[in-house]
Amino acid sequence: MKFLYKILLWTIIIMAAAFGVSGYFFVNFVFQTALEREVAQALDGSNILRFALETAALNVPTKYGVLQDIAVEQIGAKLEGGGQGSGRLLRVSDENKEALYVSVSFTEDTTLLQTLTENSRSWQVIRQGERYYVQTGIMVNTMDRNLYLETMEDVTEVFEERAMGFELYRYVTLVMLCASAVVMFLICTFLTRPIRLLTRATRRMAVGDYGYRARQVSNDELGQLTQDFNSMANVLEGTFDELEGEIQAREDFIAAFAHELKTPLTAIIGYADLLRSRELDEEKHFLSSNYIYTEGKRLENMSFRLLDIIVTRREQIEPQPVSAEVFFRYLEDMFAGNREQRLQISFEVGTVYAEINLIKSVLSNLVDNACKASQPGGVVEVSGRVAEGGYEFWVQDYGVGIPEEELQRVTEAFYMVDKSRSRSRNGAGLGLALCVEVLRLHESELWIESTVGEGTCMSFILPDGPERSTEEKANEV
Ligand code: ATP
Ligand code: MG
Repeated sequence: MKFLYKILLWTIIIMAAAFGVSGYFFVNFVFQTALEREVAQALDGSNILRFALETAALNVPTKYGVLQDIAVEQIGAKLEGGGQGSGRLLRVSDENKEALYVSVSFTEDTTLLQTLTENSRSWQVIRQGERYYVQTGIMVNTMDRNLYLETMEDVTEVFEERAMGFELYRYVTLVMLCASAVVMFLICTFLTRPIRLLTRATRRMAVGDYGYRARQVSNDELGQLTQDFNSMANVLEGTFDELEGEIQAREDFIAAFAHELKTPLTAIIGYADLLRSRELDEEKHFLSSNYIYTEGKRLENMSFRLLDIIVTRREQIEPQPVSAEVFFRYLEDMFAGNREQRLQISFEVGTVYAEINLIKSVLSNLVDNACKASQPGGVVEVSGRVAEGGYEFWVQDYGVGIPEEELQRVTEAFYMVDKSRSRSRNGAGLGLALCVEVLRLHESELWIESTVGEGTCMSFILPDGPERSTEEKANEV
């Protein structure tokens, strides 16, 4: 059952109970009041009759001073005739509670009579057929006789009014319930609107529409719930996007990897087949073997780089303070044999917080790229300086440069701007991808500025370690 209908049903049940109980008490209260009034009147009437009976008895001529039963009977008939309308209903009984005079319609029931004693006065409500009466009873002491006088007052009207009251109340309750059910339905529909909007949003999200948001239509708890739901949906959407991006990147990586593997392998297999199936002259033999060797080397280089990237991605590093000079001396030694480009090194003395071998690998990749991009005889500048919050390295060349639209992509694995040029230099397009991973571990990033035909500058800042930062802060103070 819908929440809306549940609220509606319970409201109607509670209202029906409330109307019913309050109506019952109200009508009954009115009835009791009216009945008490009637009883009081009946008792008053019975008192008056008693006096009338006593007076009449005193006026009756008596024999030996005793009131005869016949005289009582006559008085009873007189008293009955003295009433209004159809006459009074009364019963006069003697000391033995035997009736001396009874009105025609008077009840035969003697329960009240049996309870009457000296000086007592009683009443009860009785039903006779369709009519209700208040029956009163009283003892009359006259002329040495103890008589019992009972009267009956018709109170059917009071009971009819009660029945009418209940009838009217039932009718009013029914009308009120119908009216309040309509009003409650409208109120419930309005109040449960945020729930319906939330349900719609969850359903839309369940079928993959992650961009759908529930509209907030109130500022109460349900409004807060909608807000929280939307925030959760935002986080989820972000995570989904990230995951999709990651899946896409992985697929691209695998596709590029398969492609990069296929090209050298096809060449290697082709040349190997040539070598084993034909008699080649010495020059062709050398060329074929050389091709197999260089492509094999490229594959080897590629597999090492891939391994490096995978290991780096999983690694947790602990940067150590290292003198910046260590890196520049390393580059000097490494590229000392390079006769094609001139390496110009300039740096400020400083401490670098780094995993030494990883940063050496980043710098050698950048210098290697700069050399590959430069003309023979070109200059490659490697510099370092103490920067705000860390130590900055940059590698500048004056080579071919990178087109602006490629800048974003050169750090992707296997991406090469000029494939044939890179491959001819044993490139696999993995160097910068590795650099980015290593710098990410050092909480740093690679900045690339390049102009086609003028050259490229790649730089990064290694942030200060905790000790250095506190030292600096202490000095500032
Ligand atoms: P690997 O480094 O795996 O041997 P690679 O040098 O081709 O191969 P990356 O270092 O990732 O791969 O560089 C990607 C591409 O970016 C290069 O192929 C090259 O086209 C371009 N590139 C990188 N550095 C420079 C630079 N200094 N000047 C011009 N182009 C560059
Ligand atoms: Mg490279």
